[in-house]
Amino acid sequence: MLIRVRDLELQNLEFDESFQPGAIEFGPDFRQTGPLLSKGRAELIVEHRGHKENVEDIRLVGKVEVHLEFGCARCLEPVEQDVNRAFDLIYRPLGVDRRADEASISEADTEIGYYQGEGLLLEDALREQVLLETPVRALCREDCKGLCPHCGRNLNVEQCHCEQHLSDPRWEALNEIKKKLQS
Ligand SMILES: [Zn+2]
Ligand SMILES: [Zn+2]
Repeated sequence: MLIRVRDLELQNLEFDESFQPGAIEFGPDFRQTGPLLSKGRAELIVEHRGHKENVEDIRLVGKVEVHLEFGCARCLEPVEQDVNRAFDLIYRPLGVDRRADEASISEADTEIGYYQGEGLLLEDALREQVLLETPVRALCREDCKGLCPHCGRNLNVEQCHCEQHLSDPRWEALNEIKKKLQS
């Protein structure tokens, strides 16, 4: 959904959108398991920057909600995560800040992004907001034991016998001593 500056010049835009999995491209790190819901409004903020220059910013206020599924970074089992994020963002025309003018609007509570051409694609803004909420490494639980590097068994579910077969050479020396003492 393209939010056009031209349309915002006439009136604010209220949106209440639902995006099925696949409608917004998130990359290979996780899967969207239900519709992504987003509700909010877009409005135009005109910055007056001297010499009669006006900059048309898009302010995007709203929230985004989506259920995601990751693979655990250690054992690869699915990990569910709910994203529920509120946002209040300002998008400026790309290139307008190159002159390093001081902005006339308050930037304290907002984040600044940029739009190109006639407006802002809502999907792009939502993708960014969701990615800000996703972990770098998802774990199914803090103490996940992961997969055995030798046999690939999930060590949270079952104990394998690889350690006994592939014993550490440092322990072998100790075992030798033990045997000698016992005989
Ligand atoms: Zn795990
Ligand atoms: Zn094993």
